[in-house]
Amino acid sequence: MFSNQTVEKFSSLRTPFYYYDTPVLRHTLDALKKAASKHDFHVHYAMKANTNDVLLDIIRSNGLGADCVSGNEVKRALECGFAAHDVVFAGVGKSDEEIMYALQHDILCFNCESLQEMEVIDGLAKSMNKKTRIAIRINPNVNANTHHLWELETVVAALKQLTSLELIGLHFHIGSQITDLSAFKSLCLRVNEIQEWFVSRKIALTHINVGGGLGVDYHQPDTHTIPDFESYFNIFAQFLERRRGQQVHFELGRAVIAQCGSLISRVLYVKKGIRTDFTILDAGMTELIRPALYQSYHKIENISPRIPKDAPMQRYDVVGPICESSDCFGKAVDLPETRRGDLVAIRTAGAYGEVMMSQYNLRDRAGVHYSDTL
Ligand SMILES: *Cc1c(COP(=O)(O)O)cnc(C)c1O
Repeated sequence: MFSNQTVEKFSSLRTPFYYYDTPVLRHTLDALKKAASKHDFHVHYAMKANTNDVLLDIIRSNGLGADCVSGNEVKRALECGFAAHDVVFAGVGKSDEEIMYALQHDILCFNCESLQEMEVIDGLAKSMNKKTRIAIRINPNVNANTHHLWELETVVAALKQLTSLELIGLHFHIGSQITDLSAFKSLCLRVNEIQEWFVSRKIALTHINVGGGLGVDYHQPDTHTIPDFESYFNIFAQFLERRRGQQVHFELGRAVIAQCGSLISRVLYVKKGIRTDFTILDAGMTELIRPALYQSYHKIENISPRIPKDAPMQRYDVVGPICESSDCFGKAVDLPETRRGDLVAIRTAGAYGEVMMSQYNLRDRAGVHYSDTL
């Protein structure tokens, strides 16, 4: 929801641009911290969702750690003032250069996805005279009693030789935009089973990292602005069997950052079609690729002040200017009668939006504006 005053300020700005409502981010972080601290849970922000410096600074100053999936994300996290011991590095394809960078800076932990990766990290650590901590990434779909854990047996045996690595924990991540919280209960039960395997081998694990994935409400950004962190964390508090002294870590991206961002755009043209009319925006898949890439839904609103609250709705396909048939933000979208020059907001665009921008078609980079400096 945008006040008339805000839309007034938008009118003088060059479109398209990302708009971040920083109070929404701060309220989200307050709710997150309150809910996590009840259970003494540690939360890392999944940097890949949005690496905007201004937002990262707010997130860091609220005490979150950083979850990185590339060497440059590790670098950005450190540059933005995240402490190295609050930085974890995940990803299936870490390059030697990225690993060495993270080793140099002595980050908290590498989340490792294969035995070969552990061997490479161990080798690089040895050559640099370093020791480092690792967690093993486990696909929770594995059945604790099947051959999949055979691989764990091999890994654990191999660790005896990998003397520069210290196994501190396990890492899980079951997916993204998960709104059915029972999936997290299943995860907990699976983690408990897998932990048993380690306990029976007398391997102490100090860190359990259950990843991210908590979803947001793309349909009702104004009524469900802040995700239900309380219920989310309660599931883990209730179902995850925590061993003595064990830390529980989370890596939330979307749930932290999605609702504070909108993509603001102007209507270039309204074109009559045979079955439907088209609203053609000056923003496209180059600014927000999620609809084209994942057919994901974003709420689209005509926020022009001239439109009365009770204006009758018409149906439009809302598309961008890029020469790609997938450059469509929404089909059969109900909007008030829309005209050239109207301002349109595409909501819940804070996560996996700005960070995935491209300059395909040699487009200019979209601007970025913040509510507190508008
Ligand atoms: C993408 C990712 C996350 C964050 O996922 P969200 O759905 O944005 O919360 C966390 N951990 C890992 C390992 C990831 O790949």
